[in-house]
Amino acid sequence: MEQEIAYIVDGQLVDTQSASSQNDTEHTKILLDNSTESLEVLRHTCAHLLAQAIKELYPEAKFFVGPVIQDGFYYDFKVDATLSESDLKIIEKQMKQIVKKKYEITKYSMSKIEAKEKFKNDNLKLAVIENIPDDELSIYKQGDFEDLCRGPHLPSVKSLNFFKLTKISGAYLGGNEKNEMLTRIYGTAFATKEALKEYLALIEEAKKRDHRKLGNELKLFAFDEEVGAGLPIWLPNGAKLRSKLESILFKAHRRRGYEPVRGPEILKSNTWEISGHYQNYGENMYFTTIDDMEYGIKPMNCLGHIKVYQNDMVSYKDLPLKFFEYGVVHRHEKSGVLHGLFRVREFTQDDAHIFCTVNQIKENILEILSFVDNVMNIFGFKYEMEVSTKPEKAIGDDIVWDKATDAIKEALNENNLTYGIDEGGGAFYGPKIDIKITDALKRKWQCGTIQIDFNLPERFNLNFINTNNEKETPVMIHRAILGSFERFIGILIEHTNGEFPTFIAPINAIIVPISEAHHEYANKLAKFFTSHDIDVKVNNSNDSLNKRIRLSEKQRVPFVVIVGDDEEKSDSVAIRDRREKTQYSMTKQEFLELIQKQNKVNF
Ligand SMILES: [Zn+2]
Ligand SMILES: [Zn+2]
Repeated sequence: MEQEIAYIVDGQLVDTQSASSQNDTEHTKILLDNSTESLEVLRHTCAHLLAQAIKELYPEAKFFVGPVIQDGFYYDFKVDATLSESDLKIIEKQMKQIVKKKYEITKYSMSKIEAKEKFKNDNLKLAVIENIPDDELSIYKQGDFEDLCRGPHLPSVKSLNFFKLTKISGAYLGGNEKNEMLTRIYGTAFATKEALKEYLALIEEAKKRDHRKLGNELKLFAFDEEVGAGLPIWLPNGAKLRSKLESILFKAHRRRGYEPVRGPEILKSNTWEISGHYQNYGENMYFTTIDDMEYGIKPMNCLGHIKVYQNDMVSYKDLPLKFFEYGVVHRHEKSGVLHGLFRVREFTQDDAHIFCTVNQIKENILEILSFVDNVMNIFGFKYEMEVSTKPEKAIGDDIVWDKATDAIKEALNENNLTYGIDEGGGAFYGPKIDIKITDALKRKWQCGTIQIDFNLPERFNLNFINTNNEKETPVMIHRAILGSFERFIGILIEHTNGEFPTFIAPINAIIVPISEAHHEYANKLAKFFTSHDIDVKVNNSNDSLNKRIRLSEKQRVPFVVIVGDDEEKSDSVAIRDRREKTQYSMTKQEFLELIQKQNKVNF
């Protein structure tokens, strides 16, 4: 485990070989363990091992790219055979054979011209070479297998002991649907057996919790070929869950001084030209024509909120102005990337825009951070932040950029929030914070963002009257906490395994009468709870009592309420509490108070 595998030199991961020649620069040793840096090197090397195994099994194989991704790596390649899931085992076995040979991994360089000559019969590698800006390319060699790569890699294949191929799929060359289809194999690797085992257990659990499967079983949402791909249809259970989420957040926004607004779904293309979306984002937008005039269907809600701002004269005393909307947006996603509720073509953002002065950026970031913390705690999500700073090409004053970036960092520090920095990774119009949540299966999801914008206020000539009675341009902060309701609910389904907290559960309780004699009492109870805004259902079908209880539990409702003679006599209920895994009896009034207490959400 104490084995050195790479170094960080000037913020870059490099091979042990390359680092030794740079004694003058400071470098950090990377040991073979399960740290992020170490896993990157390990998985990169494992991708080459995968390629070598494929080449040995299919000598005609040609390779495109094999990058490291979150939780693993993949390799895109082409073989004559059609591979399937069952081939993964065979390839894995071949990889293990290669590891046994303990090949050293060596690196040498050549010019781009030489590389083109070397790979002249390999159209895929030539396509890769075309995309590399450098004039000198590095080749990594293990045994008689060579691959073009920037590295870094482990010094030998012998340290690759804990890997697994996880998935096979098709992938268009370079992600372009017009190009040929290649085969993609996904895999993962770790430094220890335990880490691999734990990860594989989590992906098994994730498969069981797949929100598309649960969405169907719990009758939350559906997709329909006749309607179109990526357009979710919300069934009563899903729509109830969603509207509960919406109304909790609505109140929370109001308490924090946000004003609800609503812009139109379509705006003239000319407006999208002013904003720059037409030129820069047009290929992701849908358009329609009315009376010979082209309109763009909104892919974001910003312009509607800008129009609200423009509707009145604004004084510095009015700022900050905080507008929010559950904004429905449409974006063109390629059909290949659509995935349940995670990637759709129509979705609703919990979108807000804050218009403020440069000096007010910090206080508003602080307010948003506390809002984010509130929401994440309610659902039991851990989260982290990433700050993206000024890129090379940017608009706006350096002073304003610095002020805004400092405001973000100070706000994060004051909240003791740890954050990563993506230096130069900001949009050209302002710095931003990305909110990444970690679910119960330790997976990370990018959800909300806080984006400072110096650009749109300029483009639309927004202004307010400042303390000197002069016109000044405000700053705009775009902000979404969930990101989109669709994606967030998808994540929530998998995070909770469909065991939603009572306050968003589509049905709080299912009432099961023991026999026909108790139907009336069951219906009376249902009326009582419904009149107190509690969502209940009665299951009085002809199925046996046990079967009805089982079916109710399968619906993952927080409470199954069983009623018979005893309960009817004492106006009470016998409860199976699914979340607490207990059974108890109480009066209907006590049960009402219990649910009301669980439905209360503190913002
Ligand atoms: Zn590599
Ligand atoms: Zn916006």
